[in-house]
Amino acid sequence: MTHSPSPNDFSRFWMPFSANRDFARDPRLITAADGMYYTSSDGRQILDATAGLWCVNAGHGDPIIKEALKRQIDTLDYAPHFNFGTPAAFELAGQVAALFPAGLEHVFFTGSGSESVDTALKIALHYHRARGDGARTRLIGRERGYHGVGFGGISVGGIVNNRKHFGTLLTGTDHMRHTHDPARNAFSRGCPDHGAELADDLIRIAELHDPSTIAAVIVEPMAGSTGVLLPPKGYLQRLREICDRNGILLIFDEVITAYGRLGKASAAEVFGVTPDIITTAKGLTNGVIPMGAVIVDEKIYASAMEHSETPIELFHGYTYSAHPMAVAAAKATLETYRRNDMFARVEALAPLWEDAVHNLRDVPNVVDLRNMGLVAGIELSPRPGAPGARGAEVMKMAWAEGLMIRVTGDIIALSPPFIITEDEIQMLFEKLAGILRRID
Ligand code: PMP
Repeated sequence: MTHSPSPNDFSRFWMPFSANRDFARDPRLITAADGMYYTSSDGRQILDATAGLWCVNAGHGDPIIKEALKRQIDTLDYAPHFNFGTPAAFELAGQVAALFPAGLEHVFFTGSGSESVDTALKIALHYHRARGDGARTRLIGRERGYHGVGFGGISVGGIVNNRKHFGTLLTGTDHMRHTHDPARNAFSRGCPDHGAELADDLIRIAELHDPSTIAAVIVEPMAGSTGVLLPPKGYLQRLREICDRNGILLIFDEVITAYGRLGKASAAEVFGVTPDIITTAKGLTNGVIPMGAVIVDEKIYASAMEHSETPIELFHGYTYSAHPMAVAAAKATLETYRRNDMFARVEALAPLWEDAVHNLRDVPNVVDLRNMGLVAGIELSPRPGAPGARGAEVMKMAWAEGLMIRVTGDIIALSPPFIITEDEIQMLFEKLAGILRRID
């Protein structure tokens, strides 16, 4: 007998990173979105305080993006990019590269952040081998790092739950210490003052394994998914210096931070540190169509072109690399960022946002507040014996009151679309403070 799934059969869709059984008891369903707001299935307006999953930077239903996609579906729905190409993909690559620091000139398109990370790790290994330095195979990440869910990404990632269920992972990885230090840095505004010396953990790891075996180190300049951890002042510069001294490539995972989240096109620009490779996704297409882009330094591209052993320089790629619908979405997204001067808007709103975040300082259970650009991390003390329970409760109460927020454990992460107004910022923090005051 065939089973026809009813809308209420929640077990059919195995939801990603979700408490499936809990969701089935208390579903939160979205049916539409416009601007800053979702519509819930019970007809309520829900303020999107997270830009979806850190991706809808220009807000929902942006007219420039909508028009571009309508035009594209009527013109070219799909074309391969293995030994064929579309003019728009080459144009987009130029536009993307222009947003990143000089020297980062070449773009490899992927379908997601996870694919961007695994692509970047493979390009790093390929680079060393092409130069005759094939003993450099170790990949170094960081505790609390999130680099997506591919096997490369979880191997260099530092989130225990994302790793421990999935076997032995990649061999030859190691992890630096994370930089979260609430004892010294709680309630910092922007980058914390203390902790630049934690970059020296890379020296320890390099000496432990022999620096000549290390291919690359990957970090999120601002760790997003593990609770909005800003880099200590001087930390990324120090990491860059250690990489340079030891021939190690530096990869910034900017899947969250690229395309304006911190007030500039990249965190590399914000922090004044240029890595060798940058991974991006999310805001590239405003979340409308899945797409990622890996931006690669000139020397890495040149080495592949000059030293490749085969006519195909990189044996890597995806069916959906530079998918025409995604390319159209990305071009329109970059256009809307530019035309509406959206990164400057983030910079202009940042001081007001910072004050709104830090006004929560005296709210019960708040143990740390972190912010930069249009990002906030609000850390709550865990309920004794029940870590994560307080966070989960706040998320549910926020939904009931018309807010979409994101929690990881007991940390609330906020990252609204850049079109948020000052009134909406005020409303968001008033509601949130009210909720936090009501929980025990
Ligand atoms: N890297 C970082 C820094 C991320 O924040 C994310 C997603 N949150 C990813 C990689 C993975 O991206 P995706 O979910 O598109 O695979």
